[in-house]
Amino acid sequence: MTDQSEYLKSDKLVTAHYGEEYEHYYNAVVPPIFMNSLNVFETIDDYYDSDKTDKHTYCYGRVQNPTVRILEDKAAALEHGTGALAFASGMAAATTAVLTVCKTKSHVVCIRNAYGPLKTFLNEYCREHLDMSVTYVKGDEPEEFENAVTDQTDLIILESPSSVVLSLQDIQAVSGTARKHHAYVYIDNSFCTPIYQKPLELGADIVMHTTSKYMGGHSDIIGGVLAVKDEELMARLRQQRELFGGIIGPMEAWLIIRGLRTMEVRVERHQATAMDIAAFLENHSKVRKVYYPGLLSHPQYELMKRQQSGNTGLLSFEIEGSAEQAKEVAKRLKLFKIGVSWGGFESLVCMPHARQDEEACRFLGADQNVLRIHCGLEGADVLKADLENALACL
Ligand SMILES: *Cc1c(COP(=O)(O)O)cnc(C)c1O
Repeated sequence: MTDQSEYLKSDKLVTAHYGEEYEHYYNAVVPPIFMNSLNVFETIDDYYDSDKTDKHTYCYGRVQNPTVRILEDKAAALEHGTGALAFASGMAAATTAVLTVCKTKSHVVCIRNAYGPLKTFLNEYCREHLDMSVTYVKGDEPEEFENAVTDQTDLIILESPSSVVLSLQDIQAVSGTARKHHAYVYIDNSFCTPIYQKPLELGADIVMHTTSKYMGGHSDIIGGVLAVKDEELMARLRQQRELFGGIIGPMEAWLIIRGLRTMEVRVERHQATAMDIAAFLENHSKVRKVYYPGLLSHPQYELMKRQQSGNTGLLSFEIEGSAEQAKEVAKRLKLFKIGVSWGGFESLVCMPHARQDEEACRFLGADQNVLRIHCGLEGADVLKADLENALACL
């Protein structure tokens, strides 16, 4: 058997080869999709003595599956963690993380621009059923977290960069604050992917990805992943996943393994196109403001340089005009299709704040007329022409 530690030297080797054991499946260069719900044993004692964490022991598909395991080994290696767990969605991963480290009356500090459904989960389910409380911070300055944590704080939730206004948090500084107060730091790393940011290296405890975005990369699956360094925390998360039942299916896991093989080359192209388009929009007379951390004008460019090695294809911009005019721009775009999500091959446009009231827009830090685009793989020139044409209606 090949020494797998050789593959840990680079992300490219991890996505190409790590976690795969060709000798266990007739030396097929691509692993099979293990579409089985259970595995059988020689004796009853073998069954009872089987170790759920052992790489070569499988018992029941809600606990572990060999195809899922390959994905998890790759995700853990990419994030420089000791373990990872794959879930049926990003939200299954996120809610399992929250419910594992929080308890009744836990206090959570969360950034204002965190993923909407996660905030709804905290505000509604966690408050109503667990009497938990949440303090929201803008999160641009580490002091905001220092001021918000209390003795009851069990969790700090980050998303850097966040996915609408693309704001950053200082992961290392916030992790230092969390350590002092015995709180866990959770970070949504979906925008950067592990290619451009490794938050566990900066002190975060739990890294979450929606694999529905860049990790899958082809807009054909829903999935999520958690990666951690601490083995005790990993054991708790693993037990909760088994009890909540949110493991990903083997078919989806296999598609993500396939997506990962090209992730680095894809995000490089998404980045190049987004940089080109961000600069184009920044110089456009009908555009008031561009939100993209790759731009020198981004207020946190220095922090971005310190903790990220790149950016990907998501950016937002505010037009010189009303929300109704922004809707017209979205309608006139031909290559940027109107739709949520991002991270796939295709360009998309949405207006995340179009139906937020003024107070909510102030809280979130961007107005109703903000358009969020995902720059796909169609090529920068045709995408810029599409934007130019649509903006001409203003
Ligand atoms: C889509 C998304 C999620 C949720 O992932 P699902 O796979 O849809 O559950 C979480 N965080 C961010 C930033 C997202 O864009």
